[in-house]
Amino acid sequence: MATMRFIEPELKWQIDNIACQTAVSLETEPLSSEPGFLLWQKDIPKEYWSLRGPELIDRVQAAKAALGKRAIILGHHYQREDIIQFADLKGDSFKLAKWAGEQRDAEYIVFCGVHFMAEAADVLSQPHQKVILPNMAAGCTMADMADPDDVRDCWAQLEALGLAEGTMPVTYMNSTASLKALCGEHGGIVCTSSNAAAVLQWSFAQRPRVLFFPDQHLGRNTGHKLGVPLDEMLVWDPELPLGGHTPAALAAAKIILWRGWCSVHMRFSVEQIAAARAKYPEVQVIVHPECKLEVVQAADSNGSTEFIHAAITNAPAGSVWAVGTEINLVSRIARENPDKTVFCLDPVVCPCSTMYRIHPAYLCWVLEELVAGRVRNQLTVEGETARWAKVALDRMLTVH
Ligand code: SF4
Repeated sequence: MATMRFIEPELKWQIDNIACQTAVSLETEPLSSEPGFLLWQKDIPKEYWSLRGPELIDRVQAAKAALGKRAIILGHHYQREDIIQFADLKGDSFKLAKWAGEQRDAEYIVFCGVHFMAEAADVLSQPHQKVILPNMAAGCTMADMADPDDVRDCWAQLEALGLAEGTMPVTYMNSTASLKALCGEHGGIVCTSSNAAAVLQWSFAQRPRVLFFPDQHLGRNTGHKLGVPLDEMLVWDPELPLGGHTPAALAAAKIILWRGWCSVHMRFSVEQIAAARAKYPEVQVIVHPECKLEVVQAADSNGSTEFIHAAITNAPAGSVWAVGTEINLVSRIARENPDKTVFCLDPVVCPCSTMYRIHPAYLCWVLEELVAGRVRNQLTVEGETARWAKVALDRMLTVH
């Protein structure tokens, strides 16, 4: 997967926000009309480029029916409606990873999510199963912020200082398989936003310090929730020697946070929360812990996408919810709960631009190819990387 480095912030911002527009619908356009197609996988045959929504839906349904139980489609909560309608299972990355490890019958696991999720599914699935990512360009900009060489270099610097032994490497699910392997090999673990607090407690029970990557916000919010003082959480800047700190400061730190973030969740602000409260005094504000600390603190509650979904679904009729997470999920929750008022904190329609790359034309293509006996876009994690990544993922699945 291509990496995107900090030296290109302008380009990264443009790519992240290529699909952000106010007052546009999230309905599917033909592939060739999508502004982001320039950056997506191009070797999909031209016949798929101009297919419109209804035709794609018919063809995906037909291919799915032809494959039957041989293929299972997993869909992340942030997928667009034209994809999620075909998902046999939908959920957050924790739930989908768990399911991928449990689906022993399907020959093909078609993962409608992003690259790191499909990698984790491959690591956890059985040797006879093939994991397929419909568009190989569906990555995650946050995962790209933890370049494996940079993280290994950070670990080597901690080793040189004699600090690695007392440091538990913890990677958020949103990272490459090679970083999950680094954690597995050094006693560490993977976490998701569903179990981050339990994972930090598990880590502190064994070592006094945690190296948390790539999302500084999830790490900080979770550390804060567990009572770790803010001045004991440092941000490691991979561009600077020792991450920009002195050996003494690193030795005193409880959590070393990688300098990464999610461009979708960075859009939410305390001002948006104040505006929601001014408009609806009874509103409950619920946000994802990838948001900044001040946003999480100003909200009424925070948690994973599964948590957000369940909280609103189980709330009384007539309640009002302002939600700080990806727009496809917020719109779906609003549709599923017509007896409540549910809206996104951010007035600008901005889906996760990398999740959005799973256009129905790609799903149609990979399924029709499977029907024809050809496997496209198989994602594999090999050898020692797979072995150690599985160690870290298995630890994740046991810590709740
Ligand atoms: S919402 Fe953020 S963290 Fe999740 S896949 Fe998109 S860019 Fe990555």
